[in-house]
Amino acid sequence: MKNDIQEVAEGVELTDGFHLLMEALEMNGITNIYGLLGIPVTEIGRMWQARGNKFFSFRNEQNAGYAASVAGYLTKKPGVCVTVSAPGFLNGLTALANATTNCFPMILISGSSEREIVDLQQGDYEEMDQLNIARPHCKASFRINRTEDIGVAVVRAIRTALSGRPGGVYLDIPARLFSTTMSAEEGQKSLFVPVDPAPAQLPAPSAVSRAVDLIKGAKKPLILLGKGAAYAQCDADIKALIEETGIPFTPMSMAKGLVSDTHPQCAAAARSMVLQESDVVILIGARLNWLLAHGKGKTWGGAKKFVQIDIQANEIDSNVPIAAPLIGDIESCVNALRAGLKGAAKPTEWMSAIAERANGTKAKLATKLTTATPVMNYFNSLGAIRDVLKNYPDITLVNEGANTLDNARMVIDQYLPRKRVDTGTWGVMGIGMGSAVAAAVETGKPVVAICGDSAFGFSAMEYETITRYNLPVTVIIMNNGGIYRGDEANPEHQVSCMIFNPKTKYDQFSIALGGEGVRAETPEALAKALEASLKSGKPTIIDAIIDPAAGVESGRIGNLNIVSTIGKK
Ligand code: ADP
Repeated sequence: MKNDIQEVAEGVELTDGFHLLMEALEMNGITNIYGLLGIPVTEIGRMWQARGNKFFSFRNEQNAGYAASVAGYLTKKPGVCVTVSAPGFLNGLTALANATTNCFPMILISGSSEREIVDLQQGDYEEMDQLNIARPHCKASFRINRTEDIGVAVVRAIRTALSGRPGGVYLDIPARLFSTTMSAEEGQKSLFVPVDPAPAQLPAPSAVSRAVDLIKGAKKPLILLGKGAAYAQCDADIKALIEETGIPFTPMSMAKGLVSDTHPQCAAAARSMVLQESDVVILIGARLNWLLAHGKGKTWGGAKKFVQIDIQANEIDSNVPIAAPLIGDIESCVNALRAGLKGAAKPTEWMSAIAERANGTKAKLATKLTTATPVMNYFNSLGAIRDVLKNYPDITLVNEGANTLDNARMVIDQYLPRKRVDTGTWGVMGIGMGSAVAAAVETGKPVVAICGDSAFGFSAMEYETITRYNLPVTVIIMNNGGIYRGDEANPEHQVSCMIFNPKTKYDQFSIALGGEGVRAETPEALAKALEASLKSGKPTIIDAIIDPAAGVESGRIGNLNIVSTIGKK
């Protein structure tokens, strides 16, 4: 590795902020940085690459930030994003807030303007009080004012991002610090690696026995896996808990594949039944937020009790009373439950009732997936995709959109842990291409992104990032020509606010940006194009033309879409 430390007249070797920052990151095992360069961080990219590391240069900071956050989720190490000041920082901040909301470890490093000018509001280049703006949107917001603090700041950022509930950290570096020098020897001494940055947190024995007693007394228990469980990387322990107890499980979307969707105890196809009829629900790394109807109402049917495993104590009782909280890391809690539940009776009757319901639902769906229509719809197109992807269990599936998200989540099985990245806790559009870049980079395996045409638009220019780095990413655009649907009539003398230009050709867009492009109008053509793209490993966009009338307003969350009570006037 190159060392650019300069020699000065007095014979004291010097280092500077740039070098100390890079060395601190390297020492802590960071090799990939996602970002967008410009004043005052440009040199970081060049020097980082010259030192043999990877810098993935994006077209918009928000997408670089999404990439870093997904890298954090997939690797259990903080993903690092570097941006320029003010507007670049603000773009990156959206992704940092999203990372924090999703419990993904991420560090956003931004250059900032000079403190003395910013603080007196004297009008500096890209003047902004970034430190304070970041504060409410992440776990911690730190500024480094002295070169000798760079080592400790990086360690503090890493420990904060990883420990307890993971999340985002902001590191503010005023421009001048990058070129400020200090003795190289002293600088080296200031760098270190944290001991055990995400320590195990054991649940209290009394909490374990409370949970064990509750589960043992259950007639219709259910395990609900969330993306926190997938993040925890104790896949074998979770599978063992499920198999040893015989309890059915259902995954939240990003936990799909943590235990295969084809596992005999998977109750996903009987989801509404199990949520309503279960009597004890064991939440593992899943929050009772909007995605779970806050644990109450029609979705949850009759009375039930919850066991909740979470590392964040105040998550408990966030919406409904939790009968048996288990505060600790998922691995320790799951293994404590396994020990306590050894030899307990399996709920076989309940499991067979669920299997019967699930088989019925799957049979109905199978018919829809193979029914031909004059123009493709969500079902027959996704059916074709599903049949191809069955043979590629280790691709990462990135999925965003409204109807595209709902339907793909239901139709496409996942077989392995952490192989699905989607719109997450916020249900946010625009995560597509950033997530695809990170998944391809961090796993070294192909990625298939299934995006609604509207969702794709948020990060479309990053497709050039994908072709530039020649990443094995296939983007399938479910093209119905609009937001939710593409058949809304134009108001008089206007273009409808819900539709896109019908002349748009995403396959041609790909070719223009150096990738492969295919237009698919039938399920057969779609399957063929996907297979070819996965075999070639070349960046490809498949423009999947589906019926403009396919899709419903707001997808499955139409209930959140407020409409006027007095109608149109
Ligand atoms: P989903 O959207 O899949 O339901 P959430 O993001 O809502 O999942 O919930 C994830 C939960 O997992 C968070 O409450 C977080 O605190 C928790 N969590 C994350 N990592 C761990 C871990 N290693 N141990 C325990 N809990 C964890």
